[in-house]
Amino acid sequence: MIIDLRSDTVTRLTPGMMNAIINAEVGDDVYKEDPTVNKLEQKLSEMFGMDAALFFPTGSMANQAAIKMHTQPGEQLIADKWAHVYNYEGGGVSFNSGVSCKLIDGNRGMITAAQVEESINPPDFYHSPLTSLVCLENTTNKGGGACYDFSEIVKIRKVCDSHGLGLHLDGARIWNALVARKETPKDYGKIFDTISVCLSKGLGTPMGSVLLGKREIMKKAMRVRKVLGGGMRQIGFMAAAGIYALDNHMERLAEDHKKASEISATLAKQSYIKKVEPTETNIVIFYLSEAVSEEKFMDDLLQKNIKISGMGQGKLRIVTHLDYTDEMHERFLQILNNYKK
Ligand SMILES: *Cc1c(COP(=O)(O)O)cnc(C)c1O
Repeated sequence: MIIDLRSDTVTRLTPGMMNAIINAEVGDDVYKEDPTVNKLEQKLSEMFGMDAALFFPTGSMANQAAIKMHTQPGEQLIADKWAHVYNYEGGGVSFNSGVSCKLIDGNRGMITAAQVEESINPPDFYHSPLTSLVCLENTTNKGGGACYDFSEIVKIRKVCDSHGLGLHLDGARIWNALVARKETPKDYGKIFDTISVCLSKGLGTPMGSVLLGKREIMKKAMRVRKVLGGGMRQIGFMAAAGIYALDNHMERLAEDHKKASEISATLAKQSYIKKVEPTETNIVIFYLSEAVSEEKFMDDLLQKNIKISGMGQGKLRIVTHLDYTDEMHERFLQILNNYKK
C-alpha cells in the first residue's frame, strides 16, 4: 500500500468516472462541435452565473490566458508573494504576457484591500508600469489551503473598480473553499471578471481546467488559448470526467478536510514538530524541529511507503484527496504517533 500525500493531483479514475468517459459523446472542440465540452462549459457558467466558459488542458494555461486577456506588455499585475501564477507557472507572466508582478507580503497567501490599494502605481506617473490586474488565489496553495474571508474579496473588488483594474481568481481549489466556508459559486461569479477552476485537483479528473468570465473579456479567450497551443479536438472524454466529478466528488471534499485536520492535530502533538500551520481545507503545512532534517523525515516516511512533499524553506506539505482512504489514514496517523527521529 503506497500512501501518496504529495498532492491532490495523484488520484486515479474511479469506475464511475471511467464509465462517464467511455460513454461520452464527442466532436471537434476547436470547431466548438464537442457536445460534452459544450455541456461542461455551460454547466460551469450557469453554476457561477458567468457569461462564458472555456475548457483548458491545465490550470496554468487557464491562468496564463486570463492574464494575457487582461493586460498589455509592460503592464503590471498585483499578487501575493506566494501566488501560483508567480511561483509555479514557469515565469509565464513575463514569457507570455510581458507583464511584471508587484508582490505583496500577505498572510498565508492572502492579501487585503488596503495592501492592493497601496500597491497600485499612479496611472499618470509614466516612469512606473501601469497597474492593470489583481490576481487572487482561493484556497491558497503555498499558504496551506487557507480561505479568504469573502468580505475582504468584496473590498478588493471595490478597490479594483475605483482604479479600473481587472480582477482574476486562480480558483484551482475554489471547490475546497466553497465546501469549507459554505459559500456558493454565484458569490464568486458576481465579483470576479475571470475565474479559473481545476477539475484535476480535489475533484479528481485526469486533466482539465475551465476559465470562466464576463462576455466582453471572454471574446479573446479562444484566440489566446489557440496561441498557447491549448485548442484540443475530441476532448469531450475529459469534459465528461469533469461533469461526473462536479456531480459526484464535490461534497466529499469535506472528508478530505476532516482527514487533513486530524493529521494536523496529530502532528501538533509530536515532539519532532516545530509548527503546524492552521488547517482549514485539504492541505497541511508544517515545520520540523531542528533535531530532525526534512530529508531524513521524508526518507523515513518513504521507507514506509508514504510520500509527502517538501516546499523549500523548511516547509513540508501533505495534501489529502479522493484516493486517500480511511485505512491509509489510520495507518498514517499511527506512523506519525510512533515516529522516532
Ligand atoms: C495546481 C494549481 C494550478 C494549476 O496547475 P496545473 O498543474 O497547471 O493544472 C493553479 N493554481 C494553483 C493555486 C494550483 O494549486
